[in-house]
Amino acid sequence: MDKTSDILLAEGKLLPVMEEFYTLQGEGYNTGQAAYFIRIGGCDVGCSWCDIRESWNAQLYPPVETDGVISRALEFPAKAVVITGGEPLNYNLDYLSQGLKQHGVKIFIETSGSQPLRGTPDWICLSPKKSSPPLKEIFLKADELKVIIQDETDLCWAEENMEKVKAGCQLYLQPEWSRRNTILPRIISYIKEHPRWKISLQSHKYMRIP
Ligand code: SF4
Repeated sequence: MDKTSDILLAEGKLLPVMEEFYTLQGEGYNTGQAAYFIRIGGCDVGCSWCDIRESWNAQLYPPVETDGVISRALEFPAKAVVITGGEPLNYNLDYLSQGLKQHGVKIFIETSGSQPLRGTPDWICLSPKKSSPPLKEIFLKADELKVIIQDETDLCWAEENMEKVKAGCQLYLQPEWSRRNTILPRIISYIKEHPRWKISLQSHKYMRIP
């Protein structure tokens, strides 16, 4: 990448977008809502069960003009965008956020919280990962805490994180997809005992949509 591209990337006018698609949000608080997904490449969090490993290496995704991403998002009727990854907070999202908001688009971000918050999301879904825990500052900003559960120890991890979020933050336990049949009964019984939590299922996978 030449120096000009480096500057444009730092300014958020270029982003290493892995894929863009219009679909329904499948998980968490906004489940069922139509939205334009922008998946940004690059993640060094290293979750063992990551189902989007092809996102990890940002070098595979040559940066594209953010203006073009904004234009494509605006072609769809839902005025909602999900920014996801990878870890989208590896990049400057201010320019993308401003461009979308000028057109009244709501921005939902999915993040591990391992990097400082950038951009101006309307909804922050914090999905903390043990291998690279969230920065302290994001807990009080998160609108939703979504913890992936693959075994019993993750329930303790969920409680640890729950103690750090603000009042009113929506709390979700989500079965890790490859272990869903094993872990689902335990999550159900846990939520019945601890009803501050709700379940999040990856409904897009059941519906076989992106
Ligand atoms: Fe995969 Fe997300 Fe974990 Fe990164 S934070 S390794 S993209 S699950």
